[in-house]
Amino acid sequence: MPEGDTVWRSCRRLHEVLAGRELTRSEFRVPTLATTDLSGITVRGVVSRGKHQLFRFANGFTLHTHFRMEGAWRIYARGRKWTGGPDFQIRAVLATADHDAVGYRLPVTELLPTADEASVVGHLGPDLLGPDWDLDEALSRIGRQPERTVGEALLDQRNLAGIGTFYRAELLFLQGLHPRTPVAAVPNLRRVVQRGQQLLYANRWRPEQSTTGDLRSNKRAYVFERPGQPCRRCGTTIRTEEFGTPGQERRSYWCPRCQPLADADSALPDR
Ligand SMILES: [Zn+2]
Repeated sequence: MPEGDTVWRSCRRLHEVLAGRELTRSEFRVPTLATTDLSGITVRGVVSRGKHQLFRFANGFTLHTHFRMEGAWRIYARGRKWTGGPDFQIRAVLATADHDAVGYRLPVTELLPTADEASVVGHLGPDLLGPDWDLDEALSRIGRQPERTVGEALLDQRNLAGIGTFYRAELLFLQGLHPRTPVAAVPNLRRVVQRGQQLLYANRWRPEQSTTGDLRSNKRAYVFERPGQPCRRCGTTIRTEEFGTPGQERRSYWCPRCQPLADADSALPDR
């Protein structure tokens, strides 16, 4: 599943091939945009906000897309075969004289005035990879719900934008925190969030996400998607469960020995 670093890299590449270029063709395979034609319009730029993508056009409009679980934007040099999936999964095509940008499996594809972008991304907390990353603001937002689990708080894009289940699992392992630890019981929340920002930053140019420093496919993670396997640090069997607000449960992974569950009362004196 795409996380903030993947979206950031995707938008950087889209920006490189589209910014300042005029669209020779556009196509939207969603009912609300079926008749929209952006050909002749210049692309001002492409930016990411958390896991959202914003394509800004010279006509004052922004195309807003989101990957959710399986979406992707692919870029093809003119004349190259599109290989991102079957045709029926295509939601948007933006073509210039040199490239085709093709959006696959996008659950969100909408056009809105650029001046109204806040209506779709204004709720997001500070973007971990944004130029306006603000650690104190993120900590302040997380701190508003001290009884909530740190696992849920880190995934909530209204607190900070960019962390998904991969970085959550890995970050909590690296910090020795059980995913269900209440926010109030985290001894050094500032350090946790800083480390999370560093993990995304370190991976932002890489197609393969790794928190171990090893890029081999079965060595990239400490605990993510490794349930039943031994912890790389202590050998204890990695556990997994789904938890969260009903309807928004997400899967977590942890080592019971490296990440013991502390309770809020025992940690309060440290705060
Ligand atoms: Zn362990």
